[in-house]
Amino acid sequence: MIPEAEKDHEAADGPHEDGVAKAVDWTDFRDHIATADKDGSRRWLYPKKPSGTWHRRRAWFASGLIVLMFAGPWIRIQGNPLLMLNIIERRFSILGQMFWPQDGVIFAVAMLVFITGIIVFTTAFGRLWCGWACPQTVMMEMVFRKLEYLIDGDSAEQKALAAAPWTGRKVARRVFKHAVFYGVSFIVGNTLLAYIVGSDTLLEIQFDDPRNHVTGLTFMVLFSTLFYAIFARFREQACTFICPYGRFQSAALDENTLLVAYDKRRGEARAPFRRGETQATRLSAGVGDCVNCRQCVAVCPTGIDIRDGTQMECVNCTACIDACDQVMDKVGLPRGLVRFEPQRFTRRMAMYSVVLAALVALFLVLVLTRAPVETTFLRAQGALYQPGPDGTIGNLYAVKIINKAHHDIPVELRLEGIEGTVRLMGASPLVVPKESFVQTSVMVYLPRRVLTGSTTALRLSVSSGGKRLERIRTMFVGPRDPE
Ligand code: SF4
Ligand code: SF4
Repeated sequence: MIPEAEKDHEAADGPHEDGVAKAVDWTDFRDHIATADKDGSRRWLYPKKPSGTWHRRRAWFASGLIVLMFAGPWIRIQGNPLLMLNIIERRFSILGQMFWPQDGVIFAVAMLVFITGIIVFTTAFGRLWCGWACPQTVMMEMVFRKLEYLIDGDSAEQKALAAAPWTGRKVARRVFKHAVFYGVSFIVGNTLLAYIVGSDTLLEIQFDDPRNHVTGLTFMVLFSTLFYAIFARFREQACTFICPYGRFQSAALDENTLLVAYDKRRGEARAPFRRGETQATRLSAGVGDCVNCRQCVAVCPTGIDIRDGTQMECVNCTACIDACDQVMDKVGLPRGLVRFEPQRFTRRMAMYSVVLAALVALFLVLVLTRAPVETTFLRAQGALYQPGPDGTIGNLYAVKIINKAHHDIPVELRLEGIEGTVRLMGASPLVVPKESFVQTSVMVYLPRRVLTGSTTALRLSVSSGGKRLERIRTMFVGPRDPE
């Protein structure tokens, strides 16, 4: 049996009389969003539990992502986190590569790769990201929604519970559900914190004296509460109202984009199914394959009707494909009334892809040729030249060396192409700790005969174990007439 139509979108579908298809009333077609009433107040959604081939694929894919998402801060590559975005200390680790604010060019190119990648992906695959890989959807549909089905039951039971009076049993179920939701949100909030401050710092915040980590603990509670509010209350509104990607997609999509779509030509006119009907008999009766069961609407986590066409709220989750296929199986009509419209590779996509490939290549070159150290070598402020030993002239420099690698690096500073000496003012040899920096002072002494006037161009190398890591240029000041 095909379940009865739900009534909440009556006007958009058009009711039926005596099983005869009736023209859809479009007078208020999408004049308000699916999750709001006409007066603008929130209409709470109770999507039916999805099932089917696409849902199984999605569940497997989401399981992998969830494992990766929660394990991410704890996975190390060469001692560095897989992903860490420590905006507080301005240290970033991506795929185990440490980045510093000094890597601004790499960041700029990475942002361009990201933006171009989004354009290419959206143009080709629409909102596949939203339904399949976005952490918000993955956590909402594959964790919180599943917990809700376990605790409150499927859509009909949830609606009944919501409408039921507040008894002790209802209060207990609500308290239990929201305690579970807050518990999972706490894990999500801690994971986000670990992505920001690193897993080691997170452990310190969790197990050290709380008085030493007031800020960290405050953020832990803030993040947990924020995620609880999103997953327990805000839900699909995050995609509809907050996420800019949903709005951006309308600029990137075209008729060649991969989309979940209803085959209007095959489906219209809609009419309930009568026992014994076939596709041919329905066709000869002037009706299409859509039996107007509204199962595609009932399972939609954003509450829309895919038969209204491509919509901003659609996250390509494929729940409506499964629902419609199951209905088609039951009534003996071919599957695929709601399906993925295949994507075609167009010239526009080719052009975007070339730009993306070039940016990725540039990014890789910048990352792979990036020196493990970065040196700032500046003449000490206000210091003049001074006489040195054996009639030489000395200049004082302030030096800062950043070590971006995950091991300590002993470094030597040497003059290149000019006679003279470099003398460290601090500890020698100079060792730059991993993922950190040293600041020191250096005296450079040049014999008078190599000076080229009041200023002389200098080249120095920063080496480690005889291997040059970086070359720096600076100026040396001396007397106007060196002799
Ligand atoms: S219309 Fe279909 S694919 Fe789009 S969000 Fe709703 S159920 Fe998912
Ligand atoms: S598109 Fe499919 S699931 Fe949706 S109302 Fe028509 S027959 Fe039912």
